[in-house]
Order: sequence, then C-alpha cells, then structure tokens
Amino acid sequence: MVGALYLHIPFCARKCAYCDFASWATPAGDALMGAYARAIEAQLDEAASLGLLEGCGTAYVGGGTPTLLGERDLGRLVEKIVEAASPSELTCEANPDSLGDEVLLALREAGATRLSVGVQSLDDGELCELGRLHDAACARERVAAAVATGLDVSVDLMCATPTQTLESWARTLEGAAALGVGHVSVYPLQIEEGTPLDRRYESDPCAWNDPEVQAQRMTQAQAALEACGYRRYEVASYARAGKTCRHNKAYWTGVPYLGLGTGASSMLDLKGYLRLCTACPQLPQAPDDARRVRLTVETPRGELAAKPSLSSLSFSLEFLTEPQAVAEDLMLGARLVEGLRPELVSRARELFGARFDDTIDALLARDLLADKNGRLAPTEQGWLLGNELYGALWDLAPGEVVVAKG
Ligand code: SF4
Repeated sequence: MVGALYLHIPFCARKCAYCDFASWATPAGDALMGAYARAIEAQLDEAASLGLLEGCGTAYVGGGTPTLLGERDLGRLVEKIVEAASPSELTCEANPDSLGDEVLLALREAGATRLSVGVQSLDDGELCELGRLHDAACARERVAAAVATGLDVSVDLMCATPTQTLESWARTLEGAAALGVGHVSVYPLQIEEGTPLDRRYESDPCAWNDPEVQAQRMTQAQAALEACGYRRYEVASYARAGKTCRHNKAYWTGVPYLGLGTGASSMLDLKGYLRLCTACPQLPQAPDDARRVRLTVETPRGELAAKPSLSSLSFSLEFLTEPQAVAEDLMLGARLVEGLRPELVSRARELFGARFDDTIDALLARDLLADKNGRLAPTEQGWLLGNELYGALWDLAPGEVVVAKG
C-alpha cells in the first residue's frame, strides 16, 4: 500500500551549528531513547496490521542520529522493520562518532543493507566550524570500517561552508571517493535562521557563500566525482553502477510513503489515507477532490514514547487535488537526470492543456529544461536555478492546498 517507509529518530549527541532539523541533544544512556524505539516498534506493528506496509520496497531510518540508539536498541528496531515490512533496501543514517564496530555488526545482522554516513567534510577546521563531533580521521576510519562490512555505504558532504576553499573541497571529494563508497550526496550549506552558525556570522554576511559560489562548488563536485567513476542521477546524488538510493528515488517519483516518529512526513494516496484513518479517528475527512495527503507527525518525542498508539498522534495535514499532485510530481521529477516520465507528461498535458505546453516552451527557451532522448530533463542551468525551474512547474497547480490538523 505504501512503497517506502521512513522512521525518524530525533536524538543527537549535540546539535551541529547549522542544524534546524527535528532533533534534540540527548545525553548518552537517556532512557527516553529506548522508550522511543519501543514506541516506534509498536507503531510499526500497528501499521503492518492495517495492511499499510504491504508491498513496501524500501525503508530508511533517519534522524537525528539513529546510531546514537546503540547496538541493542537499533538492532532490535531494524529487526522489527524487516519483520513488519520486509524491504529489499533498508538504509540507516549514521554519524561517524557513534558508528562503533558493535553498531555496524548489529545493523548487518538485523538486516540493514545500506548505511548513509554524515561525513560533511574531511577538513578538521571545517568540521569544527560546523560543530560536528568527529574529525576527519574518525570519519575516514569509520567509513572504511562500514565499507569493510559489505553494507552499501553512502556519505553526505557539504559544500559552500564559510571557510571552505576550492582546494579543501577538492580534497574532501577525492578523499571520500578514495574510501570506496558506492554513493555520495552533496549539499550546499543552507543558512537557517537562529542557528549558532547564523548568529556567529550575523555581522559578517560576506562569510556566506552566494548562489554563484554554491553553483560553482556543485559543478566542481560533479567533475571530481564523475572522474572517480560516479554518475550523477539527481541534482545532489552520485552513485557507482547499481548503487543509486531506491528509497530517495521513491520520493522523487510519486511513490506513496509512510513516515513514523516525531517530525516524520508521509505522503499517502487516498486509499492509504482511508486505511490510516481506521486506526486514527482524530484525522479529518479528506475533501471530495483530494487525491494525495501529506501528513507530518507533530507529537513531541517524550509524548510519543509514553503513548505510542497511532490514535494518540497529532498530525498536520495537506490535501492535494489531482492537478496539484501532478504539478508536485513534475517538480520532484525535474530533480532527476533521467527527467520526467512520459506518462506523467501526458497526464499533465491532459490536465493543464495549453498552459502546460506554454510553461514547458518557456523552460526550454530559458535552457532550464531540454529534450534528452525524447524525455524532458533538467539542464545544468536548470539545476543551478532550481528554484525557478521547480517554481514554474509547481505554479501549474491551480488553487490553494487545503491544510488541516488532526
Ligand atoms: S547530526 Fe544531523 S540531525 Fe544531528 S544536529 Fe547534526 S546535522 Fe542535525
């Protein structure tokens, strides 16, 4: 019923200086972590008994720092995912400082297939500035240990940070590739208001890299990673042959997914939403023309751990009509190198008529999209000016998205 499952673990040893994700600094050994993991397991059982997890192909344990749960609780959680959903790809996010050999072994034995490690940089000064807990030696050593277990390993890298240079970025890219990982994700640093990094450089806006520098660093990443045998398949994602992340691809291709845990988001079709409603009387009735529902869990982590039942959760919701869902799929599909699926383009043409062709013609004329082997696909320029490309496709959607609480 859903193609993908996401579990959010909102615990970190310390907040990084740039982070505004749903995660909170948590002392080692805090009993809340075990209680929260048990609560998520109970929710997985409930979702499975509703039939929501039938046909689920991929699962992702993200955070936060899932590896902070430790080998016993994390291993048990992964075993429960395998029992409830049997995904053929099961990724766990990790940070080098909490990725001990015992955690690696527990993940492997419990049935994880993939590990995504938050390395960010291989320059000690940059790591310190970002407020990361690990240094470059720790990242290198732990990623190498993960690769040696036989798990598929991905690393996240961050570009355009205040003190990064062309040379230090080149060293990080080459160093990551040399570790033998199958997948690399590359993101420019976003300035999130109110974070320590934002405050640190408040009076020195020149410290921040502008969109031009960000674009230059992303282009540099493409050249360096492709020279090392990786192929770019999404604006921020590079993989060796056979190592693309199927879970992330599900997000970009309109596959329904279920998200459990504080701050987790779901995207359900109407059938999936009605099924969830049978266990969640607090959820509102969908408007007649709704075809897609986006839900985010708003229950704080302590409350969720104390009352795990799906019926106790509070959600924020967005109801999308079919034209809005198609516009959203166009926007997400334009992140992919392979471009827009022909059946999606046909449906968009039926729904939006001449407005669709006008929009596409304008994007082709501006070199934000191109016809690549008969498919509409983003150009380099389209990715660099992503907000304009995605915005133009989303603007095809008529009316306002209906929002609700439940
Ligand atoms: S490890 Fe990730 S989620 Fe945790 S504080 Fe750092 S950036 Fe945020």
